Amino acid sequence: MKKHNFSAGPSILPQEVLQQAAKAVIDYNNEGLSLIEMSHRSKAFVDIMENARALVLELLGLEGKGYQALFLQGGASLQFLMTAMNLLEKKAGYVNTGAWSEKAIKEAQKIGEIIEVVSSKDANFNYIPKGYNVPSDLDYLHLTSNNTIFGTQIKSFPTTPVPLVCDMSSDIFSRVLDFTQFDLIYAGAQKNMGPAGTTLVVVKEDLLGKVSRNIPAILDYQKHIGADSMLNTPPVFAVYTSLLTLEWLKKEGGITAIEEANEKKATLMYSEIDLNPLFKGFAAVEDRSTMNATFNLADEALKPTFDAMLKEAGISGVNGHRSVGGYRASMYNALPIESVQALVEVMSELENKA
Ligand code: PMP
Repeated sequence: MKKHNFSAGPSILPQEVLQQAAKAVIDYNNEGLSLIEMSHRSKAFVDIMENARALVLELLGLEGKGYQALFLQGGASLQFLMTAMNLLEKKAGYVNTGAWSEKAIKEAQKIGEIIEVVSSKDANFNYIPKGYNVPSDLDYLHLTSNNTIFGTQIKSFPTTPVPLVCDMSSDIFSRVLDFTQFDLIYAGAQKNMGPAGTTLVVVKEDLLGKVSRNIPAILDYQKHIGADSMLNTPPVFAVYTSLLTLEWLKKEGGITAIEEANEKKATLMYSEIDLNPLFKGFAAVEDRSTMNATFNLADEALKPTFDAMLKEAGISGVNGHRSVGGYRASMYNALPIESVQALVEVMSELENKA
């Protein structure tokens, strides 16, 4: 039986995508070759890469607006470093909203001067700071749109006098935004887009080529753009499966339709957290993530019973991150509302039992 998959990442993908990807591993498009045993320079794969890059820009509404989409490796973690290498000349600002922002800061500090513009560390990152000033002498401002571990999400982005760089690893393609407000977006594929192994970078081309350092080729966005995102052998399976997921998203009605579905799931989840006296939400209400709902049991003594009930109901991946504890229900694009219903039912059954 297929489990209800609330994993924070790698995470649930549409069933039809898994089936198509599995088929392609055996025989891609009846070519008599597996997707993962053919040259990345073959027409078949060059087409996959081109289509994937174009569909990213189409879905984000960035076609013809000076942006390039790249499928790189090294995870979002490499982007912590690469963004700074490519964009940091004098000084950059970071908004610290959690563990991933902190890691981004730490890596960028190896490249140049970083200022923490504002932080929500004072409350274990359970909220999103607002109303802060962004200095105008920064090379860029770095944000984390969705804090996977803490379950907070930026709802309204600051208007800045400087370029905006955003780690969207855990909410890319999940909600309608004016993506032109960002100059660089990056996201590991393994939540809303595909399997682990590739990282999406969407960058405004005129942002590049302005730093004086000699950037190693493999870390240089301009080199990747010049090579059509095939500077070296790309992660062919991850790129193809990402393309399949993006095609699925387009067929479902694109970001507008998926946002509506995501909001329904989140509303259902948070109303149970709020109405059920056995549970407490972790994140500040106005900053709650539609992707990762974090919550705790009011009485830890109920944990063994609740965990056994979750297991019995086939609910998987809801354990909270060690730095928050409790539970985290990740509700990425491919998670059906039926899975949230199943989880909510177990929560209310616990209330009836207690
Ligand atoms: N940023 C965010 C918001 C994340 O959730 C994660 C991890 N899932 C990362 C960065 C690190 O990603 P990766 O493991 O791909 O390096």
